[in-house]
Amino acid sequence: MTVDGDRILIAGAGLGGLTAALALIRRGFRVAVLEQAPALGEVGAGVQIGANGMCVLDHLGLWPALEPLAWQPDGKRIHHYRTGESWPLYDLGAESVERYGFPYCMFHRADLHAVLAGAVAAAQPDAIRLNAKLAGVEQDGSRAIAMLDGGERVSGAALAGADGIHSVTRHALFGADNPQFTGIVAWRGVVPTAVLPAELLEPHSAIWIGPGGHCVHYQLRNGELMNFVGAVERGDWRIESWNAPGPVAECLRDFDGWNDTLRALIRAIPTPYKWALHVREPMDAWSKGRITLLGDACHATLPFLAQGANHAIEDGLVLARALEAFTDVETALKRYEAARLERTARMVRGSAANTARFHNPKLADPAETARIAREDFDPADVAARHDWLFEYNAVTVEI
Ligand SMILES: Cc1cc2nc3c(=O)[nH]c(=O)nc-3n(C[C@H](O)[C@H](O)[C@H](O)COP(=O)(O)OP(=O)(O)OC[C@H]3O[C@@H](n4cnc5c(N)ncnc54)[C@H](O)[C@@H]3O)c2cc1C
Repeated sequence: MTVDGDRILIAGAGLGGLTAALALIRRGFRVAVLEQAPALGEVGAGVQIGANGMCVLDHLGLWPALEPLAWQPDGKRIHHYRTGESWPLYDLGAESVERYGFPYCMFHRADLHAVLAGAVAAAQPDAIRLNAKLAGVEQDGSRAIAMLDGGERVSGAALAGADGIHSVTRHALFGADNPQFTGIVAWRGVVPTAVLPAELLEPHSAIWIGPGGHCVHYQLRNGELMNFVGAVERGDWRIESWNAPGPVAECLRDFDGWNDTLRALIRAIPTPYKWALHVREPMDAWSKGRITLLGDACHATLPFLAQGANHAIEDGLVLARALEAFTDVETALKRYEAARLERTARMVRGSAANTARFHNPKLADPAETARIAREDFDPADVAARHDWLFEYNAVTVEI
């Protein structure tokens, strides 16, 4: 058994686990991040980080490293899937900084992950352990214990399960979850912008909405790459994995009849990947004793508000602040959970509610477009659906 009663154990070196680790180290804690993978890394895909996530990353001192890797859209626009007719969803760029204090940035996930991992390693060189697969957890009155594949037991003062959507920690604390397939499959792909037609290289992030599906694209790495995500209602693919490739022809088939500009982007994807989207009811509790959860482990969401990683990042900082503020670990974990439960559940429900807006069957009739734009995307309603997300400040929120 590796014993160190004071350190905090974190299962999983994803965006949430690494943020928690860095926030804890910055507050004087020692951490052990137990990651199952043999090497650190992230999938080749984009991730949108709103003002709420950027607030945390800036607080951790990462903005100078992140700024050159970001692509900052001037806003988001909705496009009709067939005609391409478009209208603004909301403005970003300078508007995001003015309204919420921080920019809205698109990153290649590997870039953001590498900056976080590099900062953790620089702050505590022995923090991250690779090939360390959590198999179970245990605890007594004074320690939390991570049981690794192979039999090793690692102990610390507390354990945070940041081990993602199929979390072993969640399973050990609360039993099997009950994911429901949404009937929606998501496609993802990344394309060098150099091969794309000029009409795709707009300064905004685009959301194409149609009957039974929608697509999102935005640039990455200061405009070097284009990220594509497409969601389509089809019931024949159930695998919840980021790494299952599918042929371009199949992706094109899923968006048959959609605008030629969008189809040109799909055609240019070297390898599209597909992922079956599931929903889980928000949990009532995340912690038991000295063990808690964070990120997708406790609030996996549909990606339709682009907030899952943002909330994992917020969790990481709020958890570190709670452990700093309350010397009793169990109290700290309860306060962390209480500060986060309602917000994360609202985000999960808000994401699901976007399905009906983005996949409206009435979009099949272009004559309906103006009415849908007016009613579903009224600027005051759009602000009410998003301001609470971007305004949140995890650095100052009461715990
Ligand atoms: C198509 C799509 C697009 C998305 N776009 C966005 C977006 O634009 N913005 C946004 O905010 N969110 C987005 N999300 C959501 C976002 O990807 C997740 O919410 C986020 O990655 C969760 O981070 P995490 O650290 O909790 O979990 P993960 O990123 O899943 O990390 C979990 C880590 O734990 C490790 N692990 C797992 N099991 C074990 C174990 N037993 N032992 C040790 N280690 C283990 C894994 O290897 C991994 O490193 C999107 C999701 C999808 C599906």
